[in-house]
Amino acid sequence: MNPRIAAAAEAFGTPAYVYDLDGLRARVAWLHRLFDGRLQVSYAVKANPNGAVLAALSGHVTTLDVSSIGEVERALRAGWSAADLTFSGPAKRDFELRRAVEVGVGELVCESVEELDALQALGRPVSVLLRVNPLRMPKGFGAKMSGASQFGIDEEAVDGVIDALRAGRWPLLTLVGIHVYSGSNSLDPDAIAENFSIFADIYRHCAERWGRPLHRLILGSGFGIPYRDGVEPLDVEAVAERVRPVLDGILAHPLLAEASCTLEMGRWLVGPVGWFVVKVLRVKHSRGTDLAICDGGMNNHLAACGLMGMVVRRNYPMGKVRGADEPIGTYTLVGPLCTTIDTLAVKVELGALAPGDLVAVGSSGAYGLTSSPTAFISHPAPREVALEGGGHRDITEVG
Ligand SMILES: *Cc1c(COP(=O)(O)O)cnc(C)c1O
Repeated sequence: MNPRIAAAAEAFGTPAYVYDLDGLRARVAWLHRLFDGRLQVSYAVKANPNGAVLAALSGHVTTLDVSSIGEVERALRAGWSAADLTFSGPAKRDFELRRAVEVGVGELVCESVEELDALQALGRPVSVLLRVNPLRMPKGFGAKMSGASQFGIDEEAVDGVIDALRAGRWPLLTLVGIHVYSGSNSLDPDAIAENFSIFADIYRHCAERWGRPLHRLILGSGFGIPYRDGVEPLDVEAVAERVRPVLDGILAHPLLAEASCTLEMGRWLVGPVGWFVVKVLRVKHSRGTDLAICDGGMNNHLAACGLMGMVVRRNYPMGKVRGADEPIGTYTLVGPLCTTIDTLAVKVELGALAPGDLVAVGSSGAYGLTSSPTAFISHPAPREVALEGGGHRDITEVG
């Protein structure tokens, strides 16, 4: 286990989330290299909205995708320009749309006809992307958002919307592009590439229906990360190889030749560079099971407890932070809550644990703290710590 994680967690106390911000930027640079600059990268703030994470990405990714006015405000506080934000989400309220337009959010990703009406009613010119909900998607994705969905305009209804835009139903709205994001958390390069060619067909179709150039195409990436030991990470080199011709095909279309293609993602960027570190408070033997009771659990990390959309509960990758890995013990790791669902790991093999030992749960940089019910049972909120430039600093945000 990386000794810097131990030092960071020990400096500010546990439970703690530790994020390697240099590692984060290295992943963005890796993507840019792989796609030889043909794809811009957008970071989906909901994966990890910590202000230090958003600031670290400034100048590295091109845009942030925000999905509430709260995320808009976070991005602005982190030093982002409103023009570099795209605002998606199925239920943007009028006050959110109004505020977003007032502060100058670059592009509104519209998910329904009703939203187009609401934007027009604001009485200000706005650049919009239409989010399209595809009819088809390949196998091989974790969560699917196609089918009947609150996300986007059904592909079969989009012609009607584009025709209405052309006919001037929403005179203050300028269509600048198309957004598609239909599946997440895939580790299969073929599935991702196949999905992107479905997107490419949608982009071409929409451009032809619109009859004018489109400038911005957003590809919800679906890039996944391993959530347990023994699973290989996504082979992004293979993805790039398969996706390059798809991009070439998009840009070969005369109405899309000037379009910027943007890969939008959260977990692949920040998930692998984050750890959730807990301290063992008690080790207890009960009816054949060694239980390690820790100072953080489901209240701080819902996903690691298998409670965020998982079909089968599996242990996240994890390890003891300091001390010998031998002898090995088999532990069930639980958190401090008075509920049986507060279980971080079932029968995981770790170096022998004693009170005071630290355990770091990997793959925890995305959908960690802010996706968890931290207020449940009123334990103190975890710290958040950044590793950067060889040092560490407290980046905790309360509330
Ligand atoms: C959540 C979300 C993403 C990021 O998904 P990941 O699986 O974290 O990459 C991207 N785009 C939109 C619109 C989202 O809602």
